[in-house]
Amino acid sequence: MFPAWSPRLGVPAGVEKRWISSATGRHCLPKSLPGNNLGTSGSPGEGPRSLLGGPCGRVRIRREPPVIPPRKTRTIHVRDLPIGGAAPIAVQSMAATRTQDVAATLRQVRILEAAGADLVRIAVDSAADVEALAQIRRETTARLSVDLQESYRLAERVAPLVDKLRYNPGHLHHHEKSRPVADKVRYLVETAAEHGCALRIGVNAGSIAPEYQERFGDDHVGAIVQCAVDHCALVDGFGFTDYVVSIKDSDPRLVIDANVRFAAARPDVPVHLGVTEAGMPPEGVIKTRIAFEQLLARGIGDTLRVSLTVPFDDKGLEIAVGRELLADIEAGRFRSVPPNFFDGLNIIACPSCSRVENERFIELAAEVKAMTAYAADHDLTIAVMGCRVNGPGETDDADLGLWCGPRHVNLKRGPEEVGAFTYDEILGRLREELDRLIAQRATAE
Ligand code: SF4
Repeated sequence: MFPAWSPRLGVPAGVEKRWISSATGRHCLPKSLPGNNLGTSGSPGEGPRSLLGGPCGRVRIRREPPVIPPRKTRTIHVRDLPIGGAAPIAVQSMAATRTQDVAATLRQVRILEAAGADLVRIAVDSAADVEALAQIRRETTARLSVDLQESYRLAERVAPLVDKLRYNPGHLHHHEKSRPVADKVRYLVETAAEHGCALRIGVNAGSIAPEYQERFGDDHVGAIVQCAVDHCALVDGFGFTDYVVSIKDSDPRLVIDANVRFAAARPDVPVHLGVTEAGMPPEGVIKTRIAFEQLLARGIGDTLRVSLTVPFDDKGLEIAVGRELLADIEAGRFRSVPPNFFDGLNIIACPSCSRVENERFIELAAEVKAMTAYAADHDLTIAVMGCRVNGPGETDDADLGLWCGPRHVNLKRGPEEVGAFTYDEILGRLREELDRLIAQRATAE
């Protein structure tokens, strides 16, 4: 069902028993032993245990502190799904198909459900999307969350259909410019409360609200953390507690920094973890693992999403990888990465969602990766984004950025626009820009 590549590489899979040596011989350790530190996580409420070799039949078990410490967050509910506190860490994903293609989106929801998703997010940007969502709602009992970016004004129409609303503080300024942000948040909170929905305050480094950009300048982490903290205060002020916060970036090191700072400021608020635009496997999985290992081991993270750029039919991989990472971390199976993991060419790519206007985007992301392999040793970032909603902003920090429209791909050099090119032209133009950039850097050195 999934590509041959597996997140379990390097970890023996399907092993039912392990043998360890000791002075007295070999001891058969059943994997089903609760809390076995060599293969499974502990029973609920128990930490992993070490198995100390003794004579056959007399295996001594030493209890160790849990790898994922108890979380201090409050428990909220997304319909019947508890998130936060002592609840199991929920794994979620997002439909990548166009929302108005009801059949394809339903198929996507079912693929994610079959893979074990606790919650499925769908993007809604227009009245036609709301109509499609209503049809989807009639056909599935899956817990649904809706992603409102610039379209927060649709909240009252989508809230009756879903279990959770996500808003992005960085996109509230686009419409109703004279209306204060606090008023818009009040509207979202009241709408969620009226329809029994939970909320996610979803802050992204690629779409920082202008007032925080001005205040914090280049300190992106400071800006996104403060924005999240301020929005929590706003939502609290309206007497609403059923919310989670996410603070995402494409760089796992910044995700760690931001979430550690946020959790210190608001230890009570459940956290949704994710590395946005992690890109294609295996790098996308590695980046996600780096962040999740460091955060979950600190007791930060109540629900998570793995974002991978993969074909629609393989989207279940996001759930499988999420559960795999959780199981590994719960069992103390940490990986380390060499200090030079972040050296060289870094390709970031969004996981795609219904806002993608040309499905060639996913193919293009893979082609960019293949075409730029020759530049692997150069410390450059190339961003490949799927749409006009987040593409322009989320490519600003990359050395070269591509964001996809229906017929053209927009090429950027940092924040500066180079031009729009057809899907057939873009790789050649990207190559020219990349060569120019490499030559410029060589001259500068
Ligand atoms: Fe969806 Fe656009 Fe974000 Fe990609 S960049 S995940 S297409 S909103």
